[in-house]
Amino acid sequence: MKDFAIIASIDLDKSDAVLDVASKIAPNIDGIKIGVPTLLERGVKFLQKIRALLEDKPILVDLKIADIGFRSSTSWNGTNAKIMSKLQGSGATHVTVHGFPGPASVAEAVEIGNHLGLGILLLPMMSHVGAEAFFSGHIKYSVFDESCRKSGVTLAPSARSTEMDVTDGILLMGEAAGVAGYIGPATRPADLKRYRSMTEKPIWCPGFGRQDRQGRSLASQLEDWAGIVGPRSAAIVGSLIYDARNPVEAVEEIIQIRDRIKKGLRPGV
Ligand code: C5P
Repeated sequence: MKDFAIIASIDLDKSDAVLDVASKIAPNIDGIKIGVPTLLERGVKFLQKIRALLEDKPILVDLKIADIGFRSSTSWNGTNAKIMSKLQGSGATHVTVHGFPGPASVAEAVEIGNHLGLGILLLPMMSHVGAEAFFSGHIKYSVFDESCRKSGVTLAPSARSTEMDVTDGILLMGEAAGVAGYIGPATRPADLKRYRSMTEKPIWCPGFGRQDRQGRSLASQLEDWAGIVGPRSAAIVGSLIYDARNPVEAVEEIIQIRDRIKKGLRPGV
């Protein structure tokens, strides 16, 4: 994937409209995210139409999978595996998976993802109002470590303390399980810093435009994002593109801002 990629999240109500916007922006955009409503309307085969437009650029399927992992004596065959197997050969490159169901769920997703060629993007926090109420809950390192071991996930010793919040726990677990990267909230710069202090993996960030709660312009939001997460990252931009009067112009403008910021970043960021 491109450094500082711009990924369009085309969350329109009708799949024909999704395809229309995708076909217009495909030459300029760095990748596309497709959500559950579109897949419920058209099925997984719809992803092939997006793949045909994007050549080898990433397609993220935002399923936010959060079901059980179950290991029989020979293989993982919980519900996460069954959901993910439906994406086989679909053209998707990445899928979002929740971390809160715990290590068996995440370990299963990673192993099945490796088998299918699908990168797992884990969610240690979310971008919307109130997400912190649950993600800031505390877990005991010793209890968590023990449950991770049972699923074959060996945590690094906790760098922070014997207690950690859910976000730190999911990041530690993602690192140990070998996820491809994370979804990080562009609305929460302090959390993005925390992610970057715990991982070198790509961080894909939604929350630009309408979800920003700090009154920042898009340029300053993108500047904050790029400065914190660095090049191994993506900005996931939804309504600013699909609701724009001219989505092609909106993409061009966002890419221009991104390129300007990239040039201005100090070496090494
Ligand atoms: O329109 P907007 O740019 O806010 O769209 C953001 C997209 O990213 C939506 O599809 C939303 O579901 C998704 N997303 C998010 N925050 C997360 C995970 C995904 O906004 N933590």
